[in-house]
Amino acid sequence: MSLITNHMPTSELQALDAAHHLHPFTHGHDLAKKGARVITRAKGVTLTDSDGNEFLDAMAGLWCVNLGYGRHELAEAAARQMKELPYYNTFFQTTHVPAIALADRLAELTPYDLNNVFFASSGSEANDTNIRLVRTYWQEKGHPQKNIIITRKNAYHGSSMGSASLGGMAYMHAQGGMPIPDIHHIDQPHWWAEGGDMDPNEFGLQRARALEEAILELGEDRVGAFIGEPIQGAGGVIIPPETYWPEIQRICDKYNILLIADEVICGFGRTGKWFGSETMGIRPHIMTVAKGISSGYAPVGGSIVCDEVAEVLNNCEFSHGYTYSGHPVTCAVALENLRILDEEGIVEQAGSETAPYLKEKWESLADHPLVGEAKVIGLMGSIALTPDKASRAKFASVAGTVGLMCREHCFANSLIMRHVGDRMVISPPLIITKDEVDQLIVRASRALDLTHKQLI
Ligand code: PLP
Repeated sequence: MSLITNHMPTSELQALDAAHHLHPFTHGHDLAKKGARVITRAKGVTLTDSDGNEFLDAMAGLWCVNLGYGRHELAEAAARQMKELPYYNTFFQTTHVPAIALADRLAELTPYDLNNVFFASSGSEANDTNIRLVRTYWQEKGHPQKNIIITRKNAYHGSSMGSASLGGMAYMHAQGGMPIPDIHHIDQPHWWAEGGDMDPNEFGLQRARALEEAILELGEDRVGAFIGEPIQGAGGVIIPPETYWPEIQRICDKYNILLIADEVICGFGRTGKWFGSETMGIRPHIMTVAKGISSGYAPVGGSIVCDEVAEVLNNCEFSHGYTYSGHPVTCAVALENLRILDEEGIVEQAGSETAPYLKEKWESLADHPLVGEAKVIGLMGSIALTPDKASRAKFASVAGTVGLMCREHCFANSLIMRHVGDRMVISPPLIITKDEVDQLIVRASRALDLTHKQLI
C-alpha cells in the first residue's frame, strides 16, 4: 500500500478518491469526471486546497465550524482526554467526567428547564433518539397511541431512516421506504416561494394553522410532537414570518403536544443568540443539538429535554443508546469549544457587532438584478435568485441550474457559498471579521455579476 499524503499531485488524490470513496450527496459521475476538491488545510475562515488555492469558507464547513478553523486548544483537549481515558461508555449505570461536565454545561447554557441531555454523535442520531424518546414518553404516560410526529415539507433533520423521514426532502424520500410510519408533513412557512399575494404575516399564521388542522384531522389523541428548525437551514435559510412561531407555540400548548426545536444549525450562536429558540421566542420541550456544539472538531450531538420529559423517561429503562453516546474525547472537545465561545465572547460579539454589519452589507445585494430577496439573521443568510423580482418568478430552467452556476462562479472567485435550488446560502464561522465580511460581499457580487452575464 502506497503512502497517501497531502504532497501527492491533486489528480492522483482525485483518482484514488473516485476509485474507493463513496461520497454523501455527490453524483458518482461528477466525481469520476471532474474529481473532488481536495481540502488540505484551514485557518480562521480560510480553507486551502491541494493546489494551494485559498477560499473564504462562507459555509463554516457544513454550518458547523462556529469557532473557525485551527484552534489548537481543541486538539490539545482531545489529546489530553485520549491519553487519560480514550473511551468508555455511558450504558448500564456508568459515567465519566467529560460526559458529566458537558451535560452540566449544556444545562447551564440552554434556556428554560432544558436540563437533561441524551448524547449522540450527530444530529441525525439525536433526531432518531427524539422519535423513540417522544414515543416512550407518551407510552409511559399511558398514551401509547400518541405516536405521530408532525413536521414540515422541505425541513432537514438528518440522513438516517428516522431523521430523513422527519425531514421533508422529497428527493430523499424517493430513495427507499421513507417516510417511516406515523410521520406527517405539513407545508413550510416559505413566503418568498409559496406566499403568492398574501401578506407575509398572514401567510405565517396560515402556515402555522396547518399544524392545528393536521392535529384535528389526525386526532388530538394520536399526535405526540411537532418538530421544526427555528430557521430552516438546508431548506434554503428560510426565516419564517414573525407570526409563525408564536402561533405554533400556542397550538402545541393547546393540544398538549411536545415541541421539538431542531437547533443543529441554529444552536451555539448561529442566529446571534446562543439558541435559535431564544431568537425566535420558542419554548421547546426538546432541543436537538450537534454541529456548533463542538464547532465540528469532533462528532457530538444530543437531545436536550426539559425536566418533565426527563422525569417521565426516568420512570423506565429507555432501551436506546449508541456506543459513542457521551464519548469522552468528543465531550472534552465540545467542552473546550464552549469554553472558548463563552470566554472570548464570540457569541455575543457575533450577535451584537458582526451580525448587524453583515445584515447591512448582505441586504444590499437585493439591489442586484438577479436577486429577489436577500435576508440574514445572525450569521446565516440567503438570497433568492430570480428572473423577475416583482413577480418572484422562478427560472424556466430546471430548478437549481442557476444556483449551481452561481456556486461555480463563487468557487472560481475564492468563495464557498452553497446553493439550495436557486437560493444561495451562507453561514460563515462566527469569528469572521468585518474585513472578511467585506471580502465575502465583494466575491459574492462578482459571482452574481458573472452568473447574470452568463444568462443574458
Ligand atoms: N438537523 C438539522 C437542522 C441539520 O441541518 C442537520 C444537518 O445538516 C441535521 C439535523 C443532521 O445532522 P448530522 O449531519 O450531524 O447528522
